[in-house]
Amino acid sequence: MNKFDYDYIIIGSGFGGSVSALRLSEKGYKVLVLEKGKWLKAGDFPKTNWNIKKWLWMPLFRFHGLFSLTVFRHVTILGGVGVGGGSLVYANTIPVPQAPFFKAKTWSHLADWEEELKGFYPLALKMRGAAPCPRMETGDTALKQLARQMGKEDQFQQTTVAVYFGEPDVTVPDPYFNGKGPDRTGCIFCGGCMLGCRFNAKNTLDKNYLHLAQNSGAVIQAESEATDVIPLKSADGADGYRVKWASSTKLLKSKGEFSAKGIVFSGGVLGTTRLLLKLKATSLPRLSDKVGWGVRTNSESLVGVTTRDKDTVFSDGVAISSILHTDENSHVEPVRYSAGSGIWRLLMSPMIKGNNVLVRIFKIILDLFLHPIKNFKAFTVSDWSAKTQILLFMQTIDSTLRLTRGRLGLKSTVDSGEPPTAFIPEAKQIADDYAKIVNGKPMVLLTETVLGIPTTAHILGGAVMGKDREEGVIDKDNRVFGYENMYVCDGSMISANIGVNPSLTITALSERAMSKIKPKGGSSVN
Ligand SMILES: Cc1cc2nc3c(=O)[nH]c(=O)nc-3n(C[C@H](O)[C@H](O)[C@H](O)COP(=O)(O)OP(=O)(O)OC[C@H]3O[C@@H](n4cnc5c(N)ncnc54)[C@H](O)[C@@H]3O)c2cc1C
Ligand code: SF4
Repeated sequence: MNKFDYDYIIIGSGFGGSVSALRLSEKGYKVLVLEKGKWLKAGDFPKTNWNIKKWLWMPLFRFHGLFSLTVFRHVTILGGVGVGGGSLVYANTIPVPQAPFFKAKTWSHLADWEEELKGFYPLALKMRGAAPCPRMETGDTALKQLARQMGKEDQFQQTTVAVYFGEPDVTVPDPYFNGKGPDRTGCIFCGGCMLGCRFNAKNTLDKNYLHLAQNSGAVIQAESEATDVIPLKSADGADGYRVKWASSTKLLKSKGEFSAKGIVFSGGVLGTTRLLLKLKATSLPRLSDKVGWGVRTNSESLVGVTTRDKDTVFSDGVAISSILHTDENSHVEPVRYSAGSGIWRLLMSPMIKGNNVLVRIFKIILDLFLHPIKNFKAFTVSDWSAKTQILLFMQTIDSTLRLTRGRLGLKSTVDSGEPPTAFIPEAKQIADDYAKIVNGKPMVLLTETVLGIPTTAHILGGAVMGKDREEGVIDKDNRVFGYENMYVCDGSMISANIGVNPSLTITALSERAMSKIKPKGGSSVN
């Protein structure tokens, strides 16, 4: 093994990459994590999302923040970039999925997933420092009232979140890992979780998995995008790989390469799918033809309800603190940004629906004319994020997209079923009912109303599991078909609609995949 620079190179440091980094390092392997984003510290996060240079990841404009937004024909994808991946920008909420996910026909023939993951969900919750949210905020009380109106109060819950709820603003030695983790500070309920926590309270991956991986010897190289993976000697990678990387932030691009016996692709759905599609056409032709297939959203709908009440404030609390299961397949969560973080108001329009763009534009104009005062108040409210409760509606609907390489980068086509839609009737009904409770006006993103493109923060699939290379890119233990010592551990491995926020499931499945790899010292890596 020592003829290689590393035993394993992990591409991407989100949930799948961080689990892989820790577990492989603990097993005695020499690990390198390549991450294209920056290694952001508390002081690097923006105070509000008006600071777009610190907030957005748009290297073309030299914006090297933590939040990415990519628009495709069928979906707009929100994501996280940086050491810790999506954990920097996510809303901390980590529910265990309900039964339909484990039994979905797209992957239930591979294993009894409920049984297989039984031990890994508790492990993932423990590692992430899961805790019940201790406070009910204004938006949660309104959701509970809605649940009561719907006769579903028993389906209302406060969320389990990955946040340290010690004494607010008080720093203590590591409360989670017997002193091996970093110091932590109690949450101050500022609502800023999706801008990166500036108060050391959010349990991002650099505070748990990656920190412990470093303790075990893993090396993390930020601002380095993996660009190529080339088998050494044997075409199936049995003799190891050469990984090329290039700087993702420097004007004068630096680049380099390392050799490794094994590879873990963990670049998230867009990162991994983009790289695998390129490699299938160049250095890794034995990859399955299924690369890019089976891309799913959580069939989400995001609606901002802006209140007209002077005294109502929605921005206090952690980003998500309650959930209502409106039926076995549908869930709604109130989501918040911190006070002052109202940049989304620039992209808002009244919530309407219609079959074509002209009808929708007509309906927007009609709504503006019919409700001038309500619209005026919603658009001109003094602090948009303090006055707006975002509702995240999610459903377990099985339709899939396919990502392919186009002339201008990745492009989407419909794979199976109906494409995700920006107009979910149940979501509209819930938003309307919620708006009545909080005296508000429901608004949605212009990309949804005008272009009809739904938005997702929960993109999944693209390198899914299958029984063979005709059915999937990886097997049920995350091994890439056609290559040795090569794995995919991130959202692209997910082969069914989770229905709820996905990061806990990505963590649990990655824990399971890594548990299958023998400690260093055996005759082969796996
Ligand atoms: C605003 C927002 C809120 C969310 N809230 C929640 C929530 O409350 N609960 C929940 O469960 N989920 C939430 N999510 C979703 C969650 O963040 C993602 O599902 C999760 O991060 C996906 O994990 P992953 O392991 O697939 O990779 P990611 O976390 O996406 O990480 C991939 C990393 O790989 C890096 N990378 C990509 N390509 C390369 C390359 N070629 N070379 C080097 N590095 C590369 C990227 O920069 C990134 O840092 C939210 C997402 C967003 C955007
Ligand atoms: S509410 Fe504020 S302090 Fe608490 S985790 Fe979120 S960003 Fe950090």
